[in-house]
Amino acid sequence: MRIGAHVDSADPLSEAAARAAEAVQFFLSDPQGWKAPQPREDADRLRAAEVDLYVHAPYVINVATLNNRIRIPSRKLLLGHATAAAEIGAKGLIVHGGHVNAGDDLAVGFDNWRKTFAYAAESGGFALPVLIENTAGGDNACARRLDALARLWDAVGEYEVGFCLDTCHAHAGGEELLDLVDRVKAITGRIDLVHANNSKDAFDSGRDRHDNLGGGTIDPELVVAVIRAAGAPAIVETPGGVDGQGTDIAFLRDRLGAGSPAA
Ligand SMILES: [Zn+2]
Repeated sequence: MRIGAHVDSADPLSEAAARAAEAVQFFLSDPQGWKAPQPREDADRLRAAEVDLYVHAPYVINVATLNNRIRIPSRKLLLGHATAAAEIGAKGLIVHGGHVNAGDDLAVGFDNWRKTFAYAAESGGFALPVLIENTAGGDNACARRLDALARLWDAVGEYEVGFCLDTCHAHAGGEELLDLVDRVKAITGRIDLVHANNSKDAFDSGRDRHDNLGGGTIDPELVVAVIRAAGAPAIVETPGGVDGQGTDIAFLRDRLGAGSPAA
């Protein structure tokens, strides 16, 4: 099982080496901005790397919203990121589930997700797996709670859609981690990646503040159990840079290593 970290995008392979990470996730553009990703000078080196690469799409992307001025550029930015992420040999593009505004019909949001995949299919489909990630907050989210996730998958299930399970977002979003993998897989059929994070905030707080695995309000053994049950690679999106993330990776590797007791 490959364990890694979300790192700065300037030199992801050096960041991986510093943390003894087997996988890294990074942004290809400003996560708070609308700029399309630019070709990278290190694309050949990244493609040839032993380290598995994942790209996180910008946070501004919201393909579910009924607001045309956000939804249309979101689709374009997501498609552009998929192309750019495939060019560096990434295994997947992670994008948040998004939401509709208060008073708007969530059913339209799910259909907007379907249209996003239909729009991509018209131009040959996304160039790599798109992994929709569960989110922590909001009352109108497409992928905060599993009842919404089931409706989302009803809408997009005809396309090849992956799933990224974030343990902090699940806990803060109000989903118990115990047996969560089974309940998610009953809906999506798959978990492609785990974001292995602790949460600074309480269960169902709706807040999204990641903590190191040894801190926070989640029993770290539950995070381990989620990764083991998912059978998927794990990326820590935790604070503390090389030291903090390196410690989190070492903890997971120790607990998930051969011969460790089943959680
Ligand atoms: Zn995450």
